[in-house]
Amino acid sequence: MNMIKIIPAISVKNFGFYYNQQKVLDNVSMDIPQNKIIAIIGPSGCGKSTFLKSLNRMSDLEGEIQIEGKIEFFGQNIYERRINLNRLRRQISTIYSKPHLFPLSIYDNVAYGVKLIGWRPKPELDEVVELALKAADIWEEVKNKLHKSALELGYGEQQRLCIARALAVKPQVILMDELCAGLDPIAIMKIEELIECLRSELTIIFISHNMQQVSRLADFTALFQYNENHIGQLREFASTKKILAQYTDYSIRDYVTSYPRFSK
Ligand code: ADP
Repeated sequence: MNMIKIIPAISVKNFGFYYNQQKVLDNVSMDIPQNKIIAIIGPSGCGKSTFLKSLNRMSDLEGEIQIEGKIEFFGQNIYERRINLNRLRRQISTIYSKPHLFPLSIYDNVAYGVKLIGWRPKPELDEVVELALKAADIWEEVKNKLHKSALELGYGEQQRLCIARALAVKPQVILMDELCAGLDPIAIMKIEELIECLRSELTIIFISHNMQQVSRLADFTALFQYNENHIGQLREFASTKKILAQYTDYSIRDYVTSYPRFSK
């Protein structure tokens, strides 16, 4: 029989996390497959953002931290000392819940990260910017005002511009922390359509409190919880279908909004 072993994009092994010697995540293990969409759900404060930030070591910027276990990106432990953090954060790129644009033109926002990697001739840079804006489905809206300030765009457009900026440096994984917070339903629909289009090329990991959104988008869902010491843990990582079938919508909503969340 022909067995093909699929290498996970990210492999998390017995991962624990401390802020100022205070443990907030304990013993998280999961294999995140390539080119899939993964939702992270669970009650507030159970470590979802911390976990997301740990996947590209943005959590290093949070002050005194400590970790246990390891996180591998295509087999390489990202917590090794020799890891190139700039490269890692290009490969595993974060998109925040609020658009974080630079006070620069639309063009320069998208070109920013690309320029940091190295010099490119102008026509090549133009092409990278255009392709990223097209991939983020915002090209038609901005193609005639590329040199206007990005801050003049609407909120939903700014969020798609952030996605274009992330895509321009060709990441393999995108991390999204409550991407649709503060967006109106039409802007949310556009972002969800965009995520659908990116599905075949990227691994996308997003935090959401919206179960409908999770069921629409996510192939797999990671359900976090607290243990009795109020430390975040992974309760289950499985197909979204399985998670949603196992816990009713009502009970998941309950996990997300009240404490204690789980009893079995
Ligand atoms: P969630 O995303 O599930 O709401 P977080 O990862 O934001 O959870 O937080 C997990 C725990 O870590 C919380 O108790 C929170 O107060 C704490 N925490 C988060 N960020 C920091 C930080 N920079 N310094 C100290 N504690 C933090």
